[in-house]
Amino acid sequence: QAKTSGRNRVSIFNTEMHDKFVERVSLGDRLKSAVNNYEFIIHYQPQVNFDGKLKGAEALLRWQSPDQELIPPLSFIPMAEENGLIIPIGYWALNTVCQQLVAWQKNPQTLELCIAINISALQFRQPDFSNQLKKILLETGANPHLLTLELTESVLLDDLDNVIKIILDLRAIGVRFSIDDFGTGYSSLTYLKRLPLDEIKIDKSFVTDLMNDPGDRAIIRSILSLANSLSLNVTAEGIELPEQRDFLAKEGCSTFQGYLYGRPTAIDEFNLFVEHFSAASNAH
Ligand code: C2E
Ligand code: MG
Ligand code: MG
Ligand code: MG
Repeated sequence: QAKTSGRNRVSIFNTEMHDKFVERVSLGDRLKSAVNNYEFIIHYQPQVNFDGKLKGAEALLRWQSPDQELIPPLSFIPMAEENGLIIPIGYWALNTVCQQLVAWQKNPQTLELCIAINISALQFRQPDFSNQLKKILLETGANPHLLTLELTESVLLDDLDNVIKIILDLRAIGVRFSIDDFGTGYSSLTYLKRLPLDEIKIDKSFVTDLMNDPGDRAIIRSILSLANSLSLNVTAEGIELPEQRDFLAKEGCSTFQGYLYGRPTAIDEFNLFVEHFSAASNAH
């Protein structure tokens, strides 16, 4: 009896493994053709400063596969990191946002808008990353001061001296650096002290339930006080409610991002948002 069920378990396991394998192979293949056919788009989500001014947007990747709904990044980025396609996708995204910065530079109303973009650790680790980025900046003519690279704590697992070298190299031309999802990974205070950063992003997992969870409020307060003593800007993500924004503002958070202000949207809709936003702030 035990043997039979054991064997059954094994065969079920194998079937599942086989399904997973087929799924992964086809996802990998579909991603490859998506890269060749430029099936990606960038959505932009507003970031608003403490003083109520629009700072700019975070660029968030989506996959527009033909005849399918938009595919969110968490459904394909892990695979793209596994098979290396995140590198061409990442350069495409950098090119796209730099061109967007240049388009905004032509209009006085959007001249100062910044873009933050997520960079995968795998891409950041490429030996020619900083040269490739400089090339994109030169070729597009984008102002490096308006570009923030969001890194996750996983880059800190790499050779820290090398990471610092790359950051310093790019900061020398004006590019800014932010640590994304802060507090959810392997954050070490020593790393934070040694890294030449501009910003910390408070992960939305601490924001979502902050009104009910004193632990989340304590974590947020200590991130803000740490950032303050290291002279770092802080952006909080995932703000959906005015109470969350009010708490964060009271505790000294400098930049706000979340559905309360706006969801990530395609560029045309984001540009409309910018118009309405500045019209509303000029009215005050
Ligand atoms: P992230 O960089 O931490 O981005 C914030 C995520 O929170 C986004 O999810 C955004 O849509 C979502 N979000 C923002 N405000 C709210 C809110 O008020 N409520 C809720 N429920 N969610 C909110 P998204 O767009 O699905 O992106 C997920 C993750 O995928 C990103 O997390 C980032 O790690 C990664 N990602 C996105 N675009 C890129 C990219 O171009 N390159 C790389 N390497 N990773 C990317
Ligand atoms: Mg991010
Ligand atoms: Mg984040
Ligand atoms: Mg997050």
